[in-house]
Amino acid sequence: MQKKVKAVALVSSGLDSMLAVKIIKNQGIDVYGLSLTFRFDSVRHRKRANKINELEKELGIPVRLIDKSEKFLEIVKYPKHGYGSEMNPCIDCRIQMLQIAEEYMKETGADFIVTGEVVGQRPMSQQKPTIYHIDKVTGLRGLIVRPLSAKLLPETIPEQKGWINSEELFDFHGRSRKDQLELAKKFGLKGFEPPAGGCSLTTPDFSRRLSELFSNREKENIRVQDLELLLYGRHFWPYKHLNIVVGRDENDNIALESLKIKGALAFMPADDISGPFAIAVGVKNNDDIKTAASLVARYTNRYKGKSLRVEFFGLENGIIEVEPADEKNVKAWRI
Ligand code: SF4
Repeated sequence: MQKKVKAVALVSSGLDSMLAVKIIKNQGIDVYGLSLTFRFDSVRHRKRANKINELEKELGIPVRLIDKSEKFLEIVKYPKHGYGSEMNPCIDCRIQMLQIAEEYMKETGADFIVTGEVVGQRPMSQQKPTIYHIDKVTGLRGLIVRPLSAKLLPETIPEQKGWINSEELFDFHGRSRKDQLELAKKFGLKGFEPPAGGCSLTTPDFSRRLSELFSNREKENIRVQDLELLLYGRHFWPYKHLNIVVGRDENDNIALESLKIKGALAFMPADDISGPFAIAVGVKNNDDIKTAASLVARYTNRYKGKSLRVEFFGLENGIIEVEPADEKNVKAWRI
């Protein structure tokens, strides 16, 4: 009996990767979805985890969700191909995704990899020379099928061997989504998300905080949690050793509390006064405790300008009464 051809597809809830799956699946190939996330892209990370079942239903394929945070952190710290316009190591990230897909390909006995990439859609990783380079570096040349732009790219092994029909692949190019939307209509695809741009690393706010973290702390000592912390609150670096994060609203407060950063001290107004939750990483002495507490006082609106009793807990517990941080310092410390 002839062996059934199988493929591993990198998928998200975005339209392009969903279309790529449909195109290949419609050619009778067994497709195994692979969805990769990382915890410091929190909104997407959570959304992705919650949407796997919907995605499986919509595409009619199994989808494996893998958290690549630890592996990804290494290339965020040391990107061989550098960063994009912000701290986004897109080329190394794509290489890593394909390497993980290759491992899954071996595990499932699949014959090739499918991605929803569109030539010219993204400035860093989806230009033709970069695509060729990525295929070469991963050693997967000929084994990565990009159904949306396949007609603009060299023929792949699955096309040469007749596993898939080249005539049923496409020549989409650039940032316009018109062609994709038409195809989605044809396939009856509904559950896709609007284009979200890049991940957290492509945003100026996150990148500014990340580069400050890199300049203040040895990279070897930076963990995934430290990058998760960059997603929330107002960030302050009063000294090279001290990072204080103050929640801006209820969502921030809940998120900061749930992170449980190792070795950090947590701060909040004492005496049941409502105000921000804050985290201080790198506290060395009482002055650092006072500095963190003064920022909590500064952002406790009802007590603006007045001294406040602030509770702290973690490796040390106590209550300290402080004046709100001076506006000049707040400005100078804020990142
Ligand atoms: S935008 Fe973020 S997730 Fe996407 S390739 Fe670039 S670094 Fe990776």
